Amino acid sequence: MADMLTEAPRGNASGAKIQMKNYIAGEWRSSSASEDLPVMNPATGEELGRVPMSPGSDVDAAARAAAEAFPAWRRVPVTDRVQYLFKLKTLLEENFEEIARTITMECGKTLPEARGEMRRAIENVEVACGAPVMMQGYNSEDIAAGIDEIMIRQPLGVVAIIAPFNFPGMIPFWFLPYAIVTGNTVVMKPSERVPLTMQTVFGMLETLKLPPGVVNLVNGGRDVVNAILDHPEIRAVSFVGSTAVAKHVYARAAANGKRAQCQGGAKNPVIVLPDAELGGASEIIADSAFGCAGQRCLAASMAIVVGEAREPFMDAIRQKAESRVTGYGLEDGVQMGPVITPESRSRVEGLIEQAIRDGARAVVDGRKHAVPNYAKGNFVAPTILEDLPFESEVATTEIFGPVLTVHHVGDIDDAIARVNAGEYGNQASLFTSSGASARKFRYEADVGNVGINIGVAAPMAFFPFSGARQSFFGDLHGQGRDSFEFYTKKKVVVERWPRAWSRRF
Ligand code: NAD
Repeated sequence: MADMLTEAPRGNASGAKIQMKNYIAGEWRSSSASEDLPVMNPATGEELGRVPMSPGSDVDAAARAAAEAFPAWRRVPVTDRVQYLFKLKTLLEENFEEIARTITMECGKTLPEARGEMRRAIENVEVACGAPVMMQGYNSEDIAAGIDEIMIRQPLGVVAIIAPFNFPGMIPFWFLPYAIVTGNTVVMKPSERVPLTMQTVFGMLETLKLPPGVVNLVNGGRDVVNAILDHPEIRAVSFVGSTAVAKHVYARAAANGKRAQCQGGAKNPVIVLPDAELGGASEIIADSAFGCAGQRCLAASMAIVVGEAREPFMDAIRQKAESRVTGYGLEDGVQMGPVITPESRSRVEGLIEQAIRDGARAVVDGRKHAVPNYAKGNFVAPTILEDLPFESEVATTEIFGPVLTVHHVGDIDDAIARVNAGEYGNQASLFTSSGASARKFRYEADVGNVGINIGVAAPMAFFPFSGARQSFFGDLHGQGRDSFEFYTKKKVVVERWPRAWSRRF
């Protein structure tokens, strides 16, 4: 690690501002960008560093380096490629606390939340180590006399990963370990709002001594994304972000003949039935709605409460929202951090105001929340809005802040109809003690991830992260078996050998 420290910036425990660099062809390079942006700590308002808005020429350099590395990398036996992941897992464990602190500093979530994120990242490295089995094809002998047919999986070539701001450590790992272990080479673009975490992780990747060009990092924004989408060497794109950008990426990638998997935004409903264990349910729903300041694509944002669950649920959830401690995520006892930018704070507060204008009642109002010693932080405290009309704009908009709207309906059919009327399909949850209701919900809810008495139904690394409708564009998802499918192409060989043929064996 010591060598890497001289080149690759990490965290900023020393308080020094960090100039982000790109990592191309096995070396740290200053971007040729003419513009850079500040990277801010959303709790303290301090500038942590600067990130270059790299131009297309930097993407071109990275894609060429990756293309050059590909022929030799794909020939490295998969059993040897896996060895790099074993070492990567060890490095991530050894540097676990440092990476988690970096996530908290640039993204705002609490340290326990950042640790949870990195645990999920590491799980993906572990699952990708199954590549020797997962890359196997299949075969049939004697499809005709003396003729055999074989399916083999081969890597695609150069693949790109484009990440959002809200999980700077985990989301790149939904893709990176699978991409390289299957023999592809990678161009990674982190969110320009949280580039420090990948800067730190790439410093660790450098110490693995992967062949130059196998992993490349390009910092920047939309110009980097569009250059990726148009680059002829890049064969596939894995994207996570808002629905508008996911659609753009999916359409432009497809128009350029690339394979694409694009995870978009969300608006996740939770149904609460009267037979639910309401004490536990309200706690789990509050954690889902307000954890990570509501900036999770699996955050519960709309509670649909059935019949007589109304009063006890409202009492319990109000108490959970009011008692949640908001502050700087590195401090002990803090349960919720800030939202990512001052603009995001204004946007969330504006949506709360609009909901009230549209008829909602603010049961708990988290606007203009002040945290002592952190006057410059982008804090919004937990907010509960009751009886917002389902048809209002805010009820159909992804708020991406610590805001839960609560709606009351008469029965489970009505509630499931509301779930399926929403345009997103990332996640929906049901709270009940009835197996029959749970089965009905699992069967009928038109979403990719279903929770039964679970508030954040985040699939483990060995399951696909299954968004649906406006939350996902593509067919193969991130993580697990889908990843091995996505990052390999199938080749079918039909073969006959003359001696076997002539003997009719
Ligand atoms: P975003 O769409 O603004 O940015 C995502 C990436 O796209 C970034 O790397 C950014 O630089 C790039 N980008 C932004 N605008 C672009 C444009 N006009 N053209 C090309 N590229 C562009 O998303 P965000 O604000 O960073 O992340 C929050 C969003 O991500 C939320 O909508 C959230 O629901 C979603 N998200 C979804 C999942 C999921 O699994 N479905 C997971 C995490 C986050």
